[in-house]
Amino acid sequence: MPADTSGIIDTRFRTALRRLDRAGRLLKVRSKVDPHLELAAIISKRDADQAIFFEQVAGFSMPVCANFLASHANVLEIFGLDVEGVRQCMLRGCAHPIPPVMVERGPCQEVVLTSGLDLEKLLPVPFHAKGDAGRTISSSIVIAKDPDTGVRNVSFHRLQLYGGNRTGVKLDLGRHLETYYNKAKARGEPLPIAVCIGTDLAVFYGAVAMGAEMPIDKDELELAGGIKGAPIELVKCRTVPLEVPAESEIVIEGYMPPDVAVDEGPFGEFTGYNSTRMPAPVLDVTCLSHRKDPLYYTIIGGERGMLRKYILEASILSTMKKAVPIVQDVELTPGGSVRFHLVIQVKKTLPHHEGLQRNAILAAITSLKDLDWVVVVDHDVDIRNPLQVEWAISTRFEASRDLILIPAARGHEYIPVSDRGLRTKVGIDATFTQEQMQQYDRVTFQDVDLAHYDLTNTPGLLLHPALQEPSD
Ligand code: MN
Repeated sequence: MPADTSGIIDTRFRTALRRLDRAGRLLKVRSKVDPHLELAAIISKRDADQAIFFEQVAGFSMPVCANFLASHANVLEIFGLDVEGVRQCMLRGCAHPIPPVMVERGPCQEVVLTSGLDLEKLLPVPFHAKGDAGRTISSSIVIAKDPDTGVRNVSFHRLQLYGGNRTGVKLDLGRHLETYYNKAKARGEPLPIAVCIGTDLAVFYGAVAMGAEMPIDKDELELAGGIKGAPIELVKCRTVPLEVPAESEIVIEGYMPPDVAVDEGPFGEFTGYNSTRMPAPVLDVTCLSHRKDPLYYTIIGGERGMLRKYILEASILSTMKKAVPIVQDVELTPGGSVRFHLVIQVKKTLPHHEGLQRNAILAAITSLKDLDWVVVVDHDVDIRNPLQVEWAISTRFEASRDLILIPAARGHEYIPVSDRGLRTKVGIDATFTQEQMQQYDRVTFQDVDLAHYDLTNTPGLLLHPALQEPSD
């Protein structure tokens, strides 16, 4: 079903860069910066804030950019919409995906290298945080096809450099790329993949989608097209049987051999902890292509959460509303790494709505396996305001009755206190019954607009004697 084409959003990478700059939201670092620790340290000073453009990276001619989608303010400039408008684009992507189209050529192949592929010399890949094991590509969007069905998958996986043309490929449990790799491995075959660095930002959002709205038989590039309101344009890769977004800054092509593993990590994770060293498969690069004047992109810190926020909320909401119509809105909280904690707002208006708020807790956990802690509140509580949510818990939640525990369910293996991902899911029903809602009246005041009043806080302007300094 075609999406509403009246709302095409130009989410191309370079359009976004220029929009951020025009809005004063692009911090240009003109000093020469060391990609070893220093560059990421500067990004962390603007965590969840401005975008950054490093003009001079020591040892490389390629500039490095970061933080395009790290804050609501940046996202709103890029989309030219308010928060609700951006959320509508994400919901549109879920409801009306648009398949990509092939084009003859694209800027991502203006320069094509198939020999001398020393990634350590060719790309300004930063060494980000003190606990990291090595230089790591963190903005890498990996494209692959299911060896059985041919369905495309697009997802972020970090690539640690191991010298020459080899990188590690970090595969988290249950991700579609892991499934594809295991299928290829079972046949004793390598899995071809293509990696984009710096591409259409709708593809960024497609690549972080997961859960019930993005099952393994759906193509994330179709979601990206739906978000944008126009198809993503693709070109054929040069050395692997795959296609990549034509507008990409940099493309890495290669194969994941079935029988090679490296020790990967540690790496500073989105959970705020360094990951533990674990075996990971590798990528052997067969081609590096890029624009004539490519920009390298890196992702650290809060951008990883902000990037997921819009699309995961949209997809959770989309799944939940089908199952539990009293659900009005959801909020993934920053303190829960925009992944583990959810607040749900419901509106109970009929007697038979009672209890559905608890079904909503279960529907949320079903829609995204990583959710560990789900709070449900009534429609009069602002779910974007953590103080209001806590107020609802303190006044409408009685633990002996309203606490729901589901032990030993599957969560994320990165949670340090989980049993390798096994985790107790917590549901907190902080809603009133409809009788309680009738019984307990919230304190309200008359609505006034301070703009209509003559107000001042300039010292000494009022003449009342109480405000005069006493004379000795
Ligand atoms: Mn997929």
